[in-house]
Amino acid sequence: MISKIFQESPHRRWNPLKREWVIVSPHRTQRPWQGQTEEIAAPPSLAYDPTCYLCPGNTRAGGHKTPQYSGTYVFDNDFAALQQDTPSTSLDIDSASLIRAETERGLCRVLCFDPRHDLTLATMDVAAIRRVVEMWADQAADLGARPDIQYVQIFENRGAMMGASNPHPHGQIWATEHIPDEPLAEIANQRGYSRMHDTCLLCDVLKLELEQHQRIVCENDEFISLVPFWAVWPFETLVLSRAHLGSLTEFSPAQQKGLADILKQQTAIYDRLFATSFPYTMGFHQRPTDGEQYPELHFHGHFYPPLLRSATVRKFMVGFEMLGMPQRDITPEAAAQQLRSAAVR
Ligand SMILES: [Zn+2]
Ligand SMILES: [Zn+2]
Ligand SMILES: [Zn+2]
Repeated sequence: MISKIFQESPHRRWNPLKREWVIVSPHRTQRPWQGQTEEIAAPPSLAYDPTCYLCPGNTRAGGHKTPQYSGTYVFDNDFAALQQDTPSTSLDIDSASLIRAETERGLCRVLCFDPRHDLTLATMDVAAIRRVVEMWADQAADLGARPDIQYVQIFENRGAMMGASNPHPHGQIWATEHIPDEPLAEIANQRGYSRMHDTCLLCDVLKLELEQHQRIVCENDEFISLVPFWAVWPFETLVLSRAHLGSLTEFSPAQQKGLADILKQQTAIYDRLFATSFPYTMGFHQRPTDGEQYPELHFHGHFYPPLLRSATVRKFMVGFEMLGMPQRDITPEAAAQQLRSAAVR
């Protein structure tokens, strides 16, 4: 039978139909919810919200106090999906990988981008976002150095539409014992391309995009943001470093500033597109921290925003998209054009 650990502790279960994993966190109790429930997520208007657990000086649901911080503030999530102290064990009934699971150890941290409750990446200044980039690099180095951590996933859920539980500007960092499926698949394909062509897949994409100039949204000396040719979400973008970099930990000061600037440009464009605080999930894919080299891997960021036509009309991934494959109406070229015109509005 299934032992107690797989009923009570964080673990991952294998899906033999899709050859993918799902993380299960049965220990996680009800999380606090401070996201808006209205249809249109109005941006908060208060610089300080006495009921927000991420504002300086306030007490969080777990009883911990958020200090009077300036700049950024990072802490271990009080309701972490993963835990460090889970004893390592696995399960494979009949050894056929049909009922297969293994414990997944890790850490989940919250990173407040700014003490001010009413800011977002789109409205913070570049110097403030740069402090966030520096903190991401520090966290990637710190967590990646742990022997039990193979991958550091940095991400932000923005807006109640994307499930963000609090409008205060913040992101999350999940560090895991195994490389998650999304980066794992991208790494395998970057490696395969590199072996076949002796070049980097994303360096080659970048070269083609710069030649065609049809899908680029914004750029600076260090980064390009573009709607990828294969985009699934209507206004999905891919943020690519011009230099072949593997990880945030190897950025020069100019590259840190360049990333801060491109994030500001891209999120401000999103906000102008439908005159709303644009919801999205954003995050970076970088080199795993399992001790291997990964020379073929190219640092990049993904923005996955759900909006389709206006501040309230969103795309759903349902029906054929759940059972068959994704589908879109607006072409990536037209989406890039719309985003570019929002930039100069
Ligand atoms: Zn707040
Ligand atoms: Zn590259
Ligand atoms: Zn990626």
